[in-house]
Amino acid sequence: MKIAVIGTGYVGLVTGTCFAETGNKVTCVDIDINKVNKLKKGEITIYEPGLEKLFLRNLKENRLQFTTNLEEGVRDAAIIFLALPTPPGEDGSADLKYILGVAEDLGKLIKAGEYKVIIDKSTVPVGTAEKVKAAILMSSSKSSTGAGDIADAFDVVSNPEFLREGVAVDDFMKPDRVVIGTKSERARKVMGELYAPFVRQGNPVIYMDERSAELTKYAANSFLATKISFMNEIARLCEKLGADVDMVRRGIGSDERIGKRFLFPGIGYGGSCFPKDVQALVKSSSDVNYNFEILNAVMKVNEDQKLHLLPAIKDYFKNNLKGKKFALWGLAFKPNTDDIREAPALYLIEALTKEGATVSAFDPEAMSNVKNTIGDKIEYTSNQYEALKNADALIIATEWNEFRTPDFDQMKTLMKNKVIFDGRNLFDLAAIRALGFYYKSIGRETVN
Ligand code: NAD
Repeated sequence: MKIAVIGTGYVGLVTGTCFAETGNKVTCVDIDINKVNKLKKGEITIYEPGLEKLFLRNLKENRLQFTTNLEEGVRDAAIIFLALPTPPGEDGSADLKYILGVAEDLGKLIKAGEYKVIIDKSTVPVGTAEKVKAAILMSSSKSSTGAGDIADAFDVVSNPEFLREGVAVDDFMKPDRVVIGTKSERARKVMGELYAPFVRQGNPVIYMDERSAELTKYAANSFLATKISFMNEIARLCEKLGADVDMVRRGIGSDERIGKRFLFPGIGYGGSCFPKDVQALVKSSSDVNYNFEILNAVMKVNEDQKLHLLPAIKDYFKNNLKGKKFALWGLAFKPNTDDIREAPALYLIEALTKEGATVSAFDPEAMSNVKNTIGDKIEYTSNQYEALKNADALIIATEWNEFRTPDFDQMKTLMKNKVIFDGRNLFDLAAIRALGFYYKSIGRETVN
């Protein structure tokens, strides 16, 4: 099949590459000319495990192409994915200007008699498929070259994406489920054929109406965010009551109804999805006069949790962080990605530097993104140990695997003080006690 993917970021590039991998001919369109030029030359623009190999293979086989020209991208495509940003607007709602802008442009390009399926892959509020359809029709009717009545020439489908950064290729190639929102039989058939290679093991393709599909994505992310904030509150309680959150986590996670995943406490969720999606669902709810009480609490807990370690850090240094040097391990919002959107590490950097402290940071993939955002506000080091030189304390913000079993002897010789504030609970309490570190983690006894 001939596919166009509009927007070549995390979702668009993975989507385009994976559809090319199953034999389709894919053209990815992006307005960012630098990005497109790099991709054309075979330079991958995001870090995502396993993606580069597939990307290069499909580029070489000519199944994957890149352009900044929308018309060229969609000309032969029977299937058009919108993988565009939906950032939070000022009031928290998802800003649809990218989606609706492209929909208007498509209205001028769609011709009667050349059926196309247009698919919202972006995370969009309930009712967006209808808005996209209206925008296409409106702009087609205004267009001088447009064919006028193109109502039968396209369908708009909601097909939310559930991939997780860090394991995006696996998630896309072997999805737990594919959700397809459409009332059109014709579009349903096209979508079923397109996804058939990805669900050969029998994972379900769940068909529903557009509105339910749009809400499904928000409900999924909001539920997961709720699980995280719930566990972070349990962790806070553990600290006050002298319980160990790791034990509680194991105790509840073995109950099938609860499940083991998403029960790890930490310094809050970040990334490009959970914060904005929870906020957008709260806004959608208030738009229909519904106060989504649980999600308001989820957001509040998460805001506070990002700086949960700060009082302990200040306490340790007797409320004076001026001139203190902090080593920071981890900048990405989670491991195996270079994405720093809403990363808790950035909030910590802001708070520490405001108090007059300096920060020396290492992250295996995210340093250049941070440098592009905050410049030389902090020092960047070429490995995790260099960051520790003369540090008054180490703070761990991201659970990269390479931080899990570090060389503690080397750490002791490099650091000024043997002090660790761990926002991701990486180390065993007994082991760290034997090594003689002061160690504050989340929801567990402080070792001192
Ligand atoms: P992104 O910011 O990484 O990528 C968006 C791309 O769209 C950028 O490359 C940008 O240059 C391009 N773009 C903007 N305007 C354009 C236009 N008019 N024409 C062509 N290209 C244009 O965003 P993302 O993380 O890929 O997210 C895209 C959508 O998918 C969002 O709605 C997001 O909520 C959703 N989503 C993201 C993830 C994730 O893990 N990142 C997972 C599931 C769903």
